[in-house]
Amino acid sequence: MTELPTGIADPGEVRPLRLPPGAPLFQRRAERLADLAPGNAAGDFLQLLARVCEVQARVTGELRLSPNGRDLPATRPLGLASPLPDWREALARLLAGLAAIPMPPAAREAVHALQRAGADEREALAGRVLRGELTTEDLAAATFAGAALQVVYTGLAAALPPGLPRAEDGGCPVCGAPPVAGVVLGDDKLRYLCCSLCAAEWNLPRLHCAVCRKQDHVGYLTLEGDTGPAKAEACRECRVYTKLLYVEKAPRLEVGADDLATLALDLLVAEEGYRRNGRNLLLATAA
Ligand SMILES: [Zn+2]
Ligand SMILES: [Zn+2]
Repeated sequence: MTELPTGIADPGEVRPLRLPPGAPLFQRRAERLADLAPGNAAGDFLQLLARVCEVQARVTGELRLSPNGRDLPATRPLGLASPLPDWREALARLLAGLAAIPMPPAAREAVHALQRAGADEREALAGRVLRGELTTEDLAAATFAGAALQVVYTGLAAALPPGLPRAEDGGCPVCGAPPVAGVVLGDDKLRYLCCSLCAAEWNLPRLHCAVCRKQDHVGYLTLEGDTGPAKAEACRECRVYTKLLYVEKAPRLEVGADDLATLALDLLVAEEGYRRNGRNLLLATAA
């Protein structure tokens, strides 16, 4: 049996929404990043992020977040209007955990800067991460702020009851964030988009652009000679592409990790004039 991204055994079972597993998701991502690092042009970066994901897994396990006792809206229960308050504790624990892992001087300085930052400054940065409005000065610290936000949103999403209503605007049904990429399962090409923030996955019909939802305007771009799992589904209508990762090509793939290991494809597609749909919070980019 093929191992699937979140442990779902039957790829033929179409579900509108799949909630993430919480701490085990970060552990899987850490292991996958460590596997992908050797031989990758960005290997040192992937290795560093593998360690960050290990800390995320540990902090998610420690916090044991629960929706019980919270006044969450029925649609988009985790919303992006302001960072969930638990993120402050998640960041403090994450920064403490990061002190023990090796990292290059620029990353270490970003960790120290976040430790020195006041509560208002941290909160403002988290808001810019959630809105995708980062400045170039934010970039080094934004990866770690984004990692802390992922801990809280993924930890809570994992504990939500199933059956949330579908969103119509291309964002995550749980939190509203854009996807990191899509995952394609099995021969029947069942597809899910994977949330960049809470790691929930929502079903996306085949051959529809993930952004404008139009049919028959999408084409597929790959790196020449590449046998890896990534393809860019590019829409001629809205000039946006969504990265898709094929489990058939890499049974052990993890969307957040494999996205970071296939950035050469993003460079190629950008040269063709397409803008990316979605983002990876561990690779902060300026707006
Ligand atoms: Zn989400
Ligand atoms: Zn489109």
